[in-house]
Amino acid sequence: MRMILAVSVSLTLTFPALAQDKPQTVLFTNCNVFDGVAESLAGDRNVLVQGNLIASIGDASLSAEGADVIDCGGRTLMPGLIDAHTHLYMNMPGGVAGMESGTWDEIGPRAAHMANEYLYSGFTTVREMGGGGSGLKKTVDAGLIEGPRIYPSGAFVSQTSGHGDLRFGSQRNPNLPPYPNDSNAQRLGITTVADGEGAVLAAVRQNLSQGATQIKLMAGGGVASILDPLHTLQFLPEEIETAVRAAADWDTYVAVHVFSDEGIRRAVDAGVRSIEHGFFASRETLQLMKDKDVFLVAQMTGISPYLEQNPGLQSPANQAKLALATDLAKDFVENVKAIRPKMAFQSDVVFATGELLRTQLDYEKWFHANLFGNHAMLVSATSAAGELMAFAGRANPYLEGPLGVIQEGAYADILIIDGNPLEDITVIGGNEKWYDAEPRPRDIPTMRIIMKDGVIYKNTLD
Ligand SMILES: [Zn+2]
Repeated sequence: MRMILAVSVSLTLTFPALAQDKPQTVLFTNCNVFDGVAESLAGDRNVLVQGNLIASIGDASLSAEGADVIDCGGRTLMPGLIDAHTHLYMNMPGGVAGMESGTWDEIGPRAAHMANEYLYSGFTTVREMGGGGSGLKKTVDAGLIEGPRIYPSGAFVSQTSGHGDLRFGSQRNPNLPPYPNDSNAQRLGITTVADGEGAVLAAVRQNLSQGATQIKLMAGGGVASILDPLHTLQFLPEEIETAVRAAADWDTYVAVHVFSDEGIRRAVDAGVRSIEHGFFASRETLQLMKDKDVFLVAQMTGISPYLEQNPGLQSPANQAKLALATDLAKDFVENVKAIRPKMAFQSDVVFATGELLRTQLDYEKWFHANLFGNHAMLVSATSAAGELMAFAGRANPYLEGPLGVIQEGAYADILIIDGNPLEDITVIGGNEKWYDAEPRPRDIPTMRIIMKDGVIYKNTLD
């Protein structure tokens, strides 16, 4: 008896400390299942979770002795959402200037806040597209704070005067003599400015040493930055190829920030597997991406008419870039609909926390669905994004089963939802309003259960 007690105590200690409920075996009964793929719900299903995995899916006769039974009452059971492009560390108000004045002891706790918010907005996995190594991920996985699974990229890697070169014009280049290192973001490991194959190689390997699961390069101009005009191509083909080879040696891949058609081509030709944003892609380039199994990971807020209200984009220079980007992206939706490359959902929330973060996430859910359909949005935020996460190969920290699907052997990352998200995207929090939305509290009322890794973090069905 004493031995059994000792064993059960040590098992208990391996579970996240903050979770409200720590069942070993959970049987969800009377659910309509969205499995992450199908265009309709599978009715009257029972889903059995054992430990952190889905053990079996069956009809109403499926039962399990000793299981904690949760009657879903005909609600939807679906995979936890995946956000394929977050910036948990780019979290200071005031845009780039805010980041340059932030200290690690403020940025770090704010990142923990971001992780908590994503989980309670239904995201059980995020791919962190630049800003930090695996520290936050390890802290979440250890159960010390609540958050999603995190696929960290480490510092984003940028060339001098690229999209990740967050200096102001007055700050000297940290990589040129006399090496003043006066970029806060570079000193904190949020960005790395690297020029030339040797420096890119060192930057990529440094990120891998910090637990990066994939690598993020800045391969073209952006809207929120200061030093890089929108039309610019960033990194020479051989610099991108070098990063791809160094990542491949770790069995993983490179994702790039890029808008322009020429920049996307350069990246895809160099072996990049994930195109972030990609708004100026031609149909030919989208077809090339589809043929080469390259993901398009675009945040639809980037082409929203609301974007000009973004507090981080209020300088005249940012507004001018935004107007140009809006014009160049005008065929984006039509082009994507014509080719339908693989897409993963992303929010790309930066410089926004609390209610601002929530309204952007909710609007992104709605706007993506509004442009491409509810089913396409849901697939992009579940099974398709899960497929993208698996591109990390042996650098993938979550290898026990697939993510983003409801199937036997998959991770038990599960949401129970009031209503059918295939018909009504608002039931997972989608909101057609952004800056003028009613502020919502942290929790989405129609999201009744949030389970990650077999642990229930929220349950309002009891
Ligand atoms: Zn981004």
